[in-house]
Amino acid sequence: MTPDELTDRAKTTALAHGADLAGVVKVADLPGHAENISRILTGAKCVLVTAAKHSIAAIGSLNNQVAQFDTLHTYDACQRSAHMTARFLESEGFPSVAIPAFIPIDMEKPKYGMRGEICWRRAGVRAGLGSYGENGLLVTPEFGSAVRISGIITTADLTADSPLKEDACDHCMRCLEACPAEALSGKGKINKKLCGDVIFRFGFRFFQRFMLDMVRKDTGQAEEIIGGHGLIELWQTFMTGNYYYCFKCQSQCPSKNLPVNRAGRSVP
Ligand code: SF4
Ligand code: SF4
Repeated sequence: MTPDELTDRAKTTALAHGADLAGVVKVADLPGHAENISRILTGAKCVLVTAAKHSIAAIGSLNNQVAQFDTLHTYDACQRSAHMTARFLESEGFPSVAIPAFIPIDMEKPKYGMRGEICWRRAGVRAGLGSYGENGLLVTPEFGSAVRISGIITTADLTADSPLKEDACDHCMRCLEACPAEALSGKGKINKKLCGDVIFRFGFRFFQRFMLDMVRKDTGQAEEIIGGHGLIELWQTFMTGNYYYCFKCQSQCPSKNLPVNRAGRSVP
């Protein structure tokens, strides 16, 4: 099989198992991440970047739980497509590793789980899936920012794609206007603390505060804390595995296929 044929078949496998977009970047073209990638897979030559689209209606819904549910399934599509594509490449004799959207991630100081070992946004731009948006996310021509990205690291020397020539972000600034935390200031700049207070409302920081409150308060107050709303949200997070409470910068980002109105609903 020629490199072009192998690349086509790998992309076809990804698209057949849940991915909506697929592109290839050489590891050498991801400076700053090549070391991490080599630690994951010795001899890695390429990253096949895949993106799975969200339902715009779900992540634009005023009901956050349906948006969280859609996120779980979008992540699932990412993982399934990456896993099946890695298996295909291995069956062709090329050691390959499927990498989901959210791990591996550095949990040590100073990153504390806020930065992945691979920057999927950069990999997506280099692989021609989209361009950088004012919201700091990958913006694809097809689905705006309403995608989750994952991929496959492989020793196969696949045929690389070129970055897009056009800018997929139309600089409408809708993402900045919609951000409830005023965390976005354009040109990709994001105040992670302001965003984190909203998107991870009942995430790790909340859990940490909850535990500290528990050990610091006396017994009567502890009962009040346990009986409060926060613990139910934490329970939901632990049970479902999704703890995002904001999707505005994704749902408000327009695309050629699915324009959105200001309420974030798909326009029929
Ligand atoms: S996830 Fe929400 S809070 Fe965070 S930057 Fe996007 S719109 Fe703002
Ligand atoms: S909402 Fe508009 S400005 Fe923001 S990233 Fe999307 S296209 Fe760019």
